[in-house]
Amino acid sequence: MQFYSTNGQSPHASLEEAVMTGLAPDGGLYMPERIPVIPRAFFNNIGEMSVSDIAYIVATTVLGDIIDASELKQIVFDTFSFEIPLHRIDSDIYALELFHGPTLAFKDVGARFLARIISHFSHPGSKAVNVLVATSGDSGGAVAAGFHKVPGVNVFVLYPERGLTAVQRHQFTSLGDNVYPIEIMGTFDDCQRLVKEAFVDKLLREEMHITSANSINVCRLLPQMFYYYYGYSQLLRNEDVAPADGAVISVPCGNLGNLTAGLLAMRMGLPVKRFVVANNINDSFTRYLAGEDFEPKKPQRTVACAMDVGNPSNFSRILDLYNGDRDSISRDMKGYALSDEKIISAMKDVYSRHGYLMDPHGATAYEALRENLAPGEKGIFLATAHPSKFPEAVRRATGTAPQSIIAATTGNPDIHHDTPRITPSLLALKKVLLSAL
Ligand SMILES: *Cc1c(COP(=O)(O)O)cnc(C)c1O
Repeated sequence: MQFYSTNGQSPHASLEEAVMTGLAPDGGLYMPERIPVIPRAFFNNIGEMSVSDIAYIVATTVLGDIIDASELKQIVFDTFSFEIPLHRIDSDIYALELFHGPTLAFKDVGARFLARIISHFSHPGSKAVNVLVATSGDSGGAVAAGFHKVPGVNVFVLYPERGLTAVQRHQFTSLGDNVYPIEIMGTFDDCQRLVKEAFVDKLLREEMHITSANSINVCRLLPQMFYYYYGYSQLLRNEDVAPADGAVISVPCGNLGNLTAGLLAMRMGLPVKRFVVANNINDSFTRYLAGEDFEPKKPQRTVACAMDVGNPSNFSRILDLYNGDRDSISRDMKGYALSDEKIISAMKDVYSRHGYLMDPHGATAYEALRENLAPGEKGIFLATAHPSKFPEAVRRATGTAPQSIIAATTGNPDIHHDTPRITPSLLALKKVLLSAL
């Protein structure tokens, strides 16, 4: 299996090159050159399989010719060291709870897998690998936890000065060791742009080996396919009749990484009726689906802050998957853009009817799904974070804030790197990166 760039200018790359560089030299995103279809027999007893078993089979189908089977199995089993339960909310709506990992967000899956793949490819005695990650909320913590104390790897977390909750920030500023937070006086899109600029900077590339742990890295993306299959397998266990055409799956979208992984899973043969794209008011993709031009905007702050993305980076992958054909894209998915009020009221509604607390991102997906689902259909929404990561939203929805979970997360509150705070310029970033080494 080789990987090509969505910009089409760079030569094809091996998995090692794609993972270790993050972004293709032409600035495009890497895509697998083939999307293998999983044999139908896999679905016969999928209902009895564990998440790790399922992940292992899907992983082998894609990466089996690159990584030795026993090692791939180890990587997959280490990645999924936590449960991903499917929880029934309404008679026709289920939550796929992706937040039982160490930093309580779905990004643990991609980050843990990527960390293990990077270790697999890093050679003893060679130069340290420097992992750059821009975070709008949850990536920073997940990537930092995934790589914390991994020998030969440094992690630089770029985060915007405003918009993260204290818990989110704490998850990567408290670790120390090889984890370096950098506060950017700008927005998440500034952080993301800086990471991209750093990659194409000649001097930096010569001085240090850098790669990205954002969902532009193909190994963040691939493992996110696995839990779509597991959600389906649990649906079969719960429902008497197997929905052969699959469920409607609602995805809370920011950079569109999770959605892209779902689309890849569908291409590989997973039955999915359609996708629901759940946006907050940062809705450039939803507008595109509705027929408008794709027009990146400055992100606006919302209660679902991990989705405050104005220029979603995986848009180019989705275009690539569909050869730029908007009609076929729109056949497979429908977009919704929800205001903060709607998100909070969905949290309130489900909490009062079922005593089930959703986080604002999951709530966005729940509400979009509820509006989209037709009678007789089954729906699954991705619950991407634990509600206690968003105490202010929970307080607005229920009247009481959840108990602090800081103690339960990784990290020691007493350790602090002297966090640099810089203007959103490549020059300022370079200074910090080069001086850390
Ligand atoms: C990152 C994130 C999202 C958005 O996922 P993308 O893959 O960027 O679209 C949704 N919910 C939570 C909790 C997140 O952390």
